[in-house]
Amino acid sequence: MTINHHPSDQTLLRFAAGTLPAGPALVVSTHLSGCPFCQRRLAAFEAVGGDILTRTRPEALSSDALERTLARLDLSHRVTAISPRPSPRISIDGLALPSTLNDCKVGPWRTVGAGVKLSRLVVPHAPAANVILLKVKANKRMPAHGHTDLEVTQVLKGSFSDGDNRYQPGDFVEGDDETDHSPVIGSEGECISLAAIEGHVRFHGFLGKLIQPFVRI
Ligand SMILES: [Zn+2]
Repeated sequence: MTINHHPSDQTLLRFAAGTLPAGPALVVSTHLSGCPFCQRRLAAFEAVGGDILTRTRPEALSSDALERTLARLDLSHRVTAISPRPSPRISIDGLALPSTLNDCKVGPWRTVGAGVKLSRLVVPHAPAANVILLKVKANKRMPAHGHTDLEVTQVLKGSFSDGDNRYQPGDFVEGDDETDHSPVIGSEGECISLAAIEGHVRFHGFLGKLIQPFVRI
């Protein structure tokens, strides 16, 4: 499995610093559990963590400053300690959910539009977090929406395309207030993705309005 889309430096830094809200942090840790590339990036960020993260708010950190700091580090001998992964305990539609979700309570699928179903996940340590599984049929357009804060998505099954980008299982998608997207699901089959939404979300269009009541904001 080739992973082509990863969390941004900013998001991974916030994760390393423990400042990412619980919902997005869960999606990032799900991505990390299957992405050796990001495990190495995280190890690098944690290596500099004591230095810059305690002095600088990650949001205020320029990517240039980060690159310069990382360039000074010799990471060649660093070995990322990866603890053994527990087995997945939850399945939905025959799909074993990543073990990072083992402690979550998965709600039933609710139809929120033609070909679109949504299931709420309850995160035990953050029950108010907006974490959902979204299942959309092949070739359908996902509900269009714009954001005012942060939305992160991890593809678990199937694929979708958004402009020139195609997202497949293992890929991580990050939206922010610049994004106003409505991706199209791949023709090979339905797509299931894990998403966390922070802040106020304005859904547009018919499907979006149907989804709105299921997302607490
Ligand atoms: Zn990654």
